[in-house]
Amino acid sequence: MGKNRAGWPTFDKIKAETSVCTDKLLVFDRDFILVENPSNIDLSASVKPNRSFWERFPGLDRRKIELAMRSISENAPPLRITHGVDGSELCDLAIYRIADRIAVIESVRNRHDVERAILLHQATHDALTRLPNRRQFGADLTASLQEIESSEDILSLMQLDLDDFKPVNDTLGHSAGDKLLQFAASRIKGCLDSDDRVYRLAGDEFMIISMGPGHPAKGQRLAEALINAFKRPFTIDNIAVFVGTSIGISVAPQDGTNPEQLMKACDVALHAAKKDGRGCASAFDPALLAILEQKELLRRSLRTALEQQQFFIEYQPLAESDRIVGFEALLRWQHPLLGRIPPIAFIPMAEADGIMSEIGEWVLECACREAMSWPKDYIVAVNISASEFLTSGLTDRVSHTLDLVGFSPDRLELEITETVLLERTVNNLDTLYTLNVLGIRISLDDFGTQYSSLGYLKTFPFDTIKIDRYFIIDLVDDLKSQAIVRCVINLAHDLNMLVIAEGVETQQQAEWLQNAGCDRLQGYLISRPLAVEAIKEFISRPPTLPLG
Ligand code: C2E
Ligand code: MG
Ligand code: MG
Repeated sequence: MGKNRAGWPTFDKIKAETSVCTDKLLVFDRDFILVENPSNIDLSASVKPNRSFWERFPGLDRRKIELAMRSISENAPPLRITHGVDGSELCDLAIYRIADRIAVIESVRNRHDVERAILLHQATHDALTRLPNRRQFGADLTASLQEIESSEDILSLMQLDLDDFKPVNDTLGHSAGDKLLQFAASRIKGCLDSDDRVYRLAGDEFMIISMGPGHPAKGQRLAEALINAFKRPFTIDNIAVFVGTSIGISVAPQDGTNPEQLMKACDVALHAAKKDGRGCASAFDPALLAILEQKELLRRSLRTALEQQQFFIEYQPLAESDRIVGFEALLRWQHPLLGRIPPIAFIPMAEADGIMSEIGEWVLECACREAMSWPKDYIVAVNISASEFLTSGLTDRVSHTLDLVGFSPDRLELEITETVLLERTVNNLDTLYTLNVLGIRISLDDFGTQYSSLGYLKTFPFDTIKIDRYFIIDLVDDLKSQAIVRCVINLAHDLNMLVIAEGVETQQQAEWLQNAGCDRLQGYLISRPLAVEAIKEFISRPPTLPLG
């Protein structure tokens, strides 16, 4: 009866199998009329011989099943349906089409067992990717560590994080983000050996446990394979999306023998991988832990630095050819244990922790107060970080501070970088225009080092462009730097903007810049940043200016 297509069951095979287990077989014709009862099911209560499938299984959606069976071809997998029999039992049906017959295998399960199994599965698995979850991971890691204790095996633990997951979620929407996570999960699985295990802990955070005698080299090879697998784009809603992965690796017993140590080591390694750039894997190194612990210490003390008055400002002169025109305020942090911390070490941290606006407000007020004692034609330039700029209410805060201190807006210059203009463009332009209307000057800091879209210069009339030190450092010998600096000066002048060269350290640089028409200079050649106490002396006896 029926053709035996490779891999698919014949009736004989189904009969043989159902006769040795608790599953039962019924055979219907293509009109769903019972034609055979090979398992000798007692049908008297439910259906008499020659009656239909629908009497045996009342309550099923007849239209749907008929439709599905019509489209099931002979070598397709069976249609599977779970059907409640009574309060305590569930019946799973597997419905095969074999030649002109319909074979139905019934297997009855205890409803409570099934529900318990489903609940356990839900509690230990992630619904989106169907991978085991954090809970299962914790249990498996503990068990695996116990296992390697009594063997020579080595365990590699890997933490994967998708590069640029957030932008995909933000720009293409959450459902695209969900699809990306599902695709990422299957791409990870595609790289694993059968005994490696992958888990989704949260968001775009995946973990892999891989163990055996070939580690740690096997772990390294697996990490490389994963990184390569993520170099291919994902196609989501017909859009090719490039999302790499960064991987941290820790190894047991070498980097830790309990789950906490091993996870911490893995996390530290992941941080290092991300610092190396996108699409990198990094193995744990104890030196990394010391760096991270110091960072943690900094982060904790940063929260109290403001109230404990550990911040102060230094001022670096801004010079024209024959006179000083003002100072740039540069924030300093004197840490009670670690000494002076440079702004690049703590500003990104303050931005990430959401406290940069508060610090920035303090800088602005302090700088305006201290500048009150300078000559009336001196300006003060204050840096505004991207996070401060993007926090709503900046213009109100600035004008409130100016009112409070009684500082004239035309003596204030706010320095922003191009990163500010990358996000929420309409609002940002609004903020810039409002500041401009208040009479505050805006300068574009570190020009040329970031995204340098000339479009910004068209959409917003900056007062000043500051050419980054990167182009000044080799200016005298490097023809490319010369070409770029000359071009920026001309461009700025054509757009009615002033140009400041940052990081001017030598007389030759200053002369070259003056010949090229640069308006202002800033750098160690004129002066290093000065403590507030030194400003009075500096103003009363200014140094001979390089181009004076
Ligand atoms: P920036 O605004 O571009 O400031 C110029 C940086 O170059 C300062 O570094 C200054 O000390 C340094 N510099 C000036 N002349 C020379 C020179 O001739 N040679 C060399 N090698 N360096 C020179 P600093 O003070 O370490 O500040 C670094 C960055 O931190 C600043 O770059 C600015 O982006 C940020 N920053 C400083 N203070 C604040 C602040 O109050 N708020 C915000 N948001 N950022 C700030
Ligand atoms: Mg600046
Ligand atoms: Mg700068």
